[in-house]
Amino acid sequence: MIVIYTNILPERKAGLTIGPVILIQRRYKGDAGLLAHEKEHARQFWASFGLHLILYPLSRRYRLWAESRAFAKQVNGSNIDDLAEKMARDSYRLGITKTDARKHIERWL
Ligand SMILES: [Zn+2]
Repeated sequence: MIVIYTNILPERKAGLTIGPVILIQRRYKGDAGLLAHEKEHARQFWASFGLHLILYPLSRRYRLWAESRAFAKQVNGSNIDDLAEKMARDSYRLGITKTDARKHIERWL
């Protein structure tokens, strides 16, 4: 996998992984949790032989599984509520509450 620190991502997006390529906003350089989150998505790409790229946008169920695991990798100590709030945002199209998101993340801790 390759990690690129860039300014080309939309302002609201801290990181984006496309297959084995991880893009992270420059200002998040040094954020170990975010890097662990995006690395998990790259791992999901390899583990699924690339199917991740198709399943992620199309299947809510798969997206929920993928993000739960990625956010679990991002947890360190007490920030699980902040992460659950992020995961419940509309941009992930999961249709879940923050409470639900927390339960899904905890499943992989
Ligand atoms: Zn993610």
